[in-house]
Amino acid sequence: MKKIAKKTPVLKRLYELYERMDAAYAASATAIGLSCQGCADSCCETLFRHHTYVEWTALAQGFAALPPARQDEMRTQAETYLRIHRNALPGMRPRVPCPASVSTESGLVCGIYAHRPMVCRLHGVPNVLQRPGAAPAAFPGCDRAQNLAKTCEPALLDRTPLLSDLARLEMDLLGRERMGKLPRVDLTIAEMLLMGPPRL
Ligand code: SF4
Repeated sequence: MKKIAKKTPVLKRLYELYERMDAAYAASATAIGLSCQGCADSCCETLFRHHTYVEWTALAQGFAALPPARQDEMRTQAETYLRIHRNALPGMRPRVPCPASVSTESGLVCGIYAHRPMVCRLHGVPNVLQRPGAAPAAFPGCDRAQNLAKTCEPALLDRTPLLSDLARLEMDLLGRERMGKLPRVDLTIAEMLLMGPPRL
């Protein structure tokens, strides 16, 4: 109980940060007329890896709140997902839908949408990241975004303040002493779903 009470304010701030990420994404996407509607190149088949305990904690809580049958379904999908990636030929990256995705009449949708981590929220739009002491790194966005950006001025999403707030939340969750001592999180959604919440 103590642990949950300690995490709750951090998670509340994480969800506020997620709202800011969604707003930043929407502003950038709207500026170039980007929509995911009808896109055959589903981002949810991309092999994303995730890097913070705070996002993992929120994802695990969201997953635990799903009906048990849905959780079982996603766990089975996660096992299949990992098996396919493990058995891929060297240099090949199979395209497999994320195990958190759910098939609907209008296509795949995210089954843990409110709890999806940062990379799922920011992927696709042209963006920039300023690392301390380095030149800004620019990312052009997905293929559809790059095509649209040829005909208008892109509104670059600045990931810098969002990432720095996420790093602050990670620090607040773990505490200064454990920051950098715990193993780095380098997990797919499939691994996080199967592992359950991080043991903190
Ligand atoms: S967590 Fe949701 S948004 Fe992210 S890749 Fe999986 S299905 Fe897509």
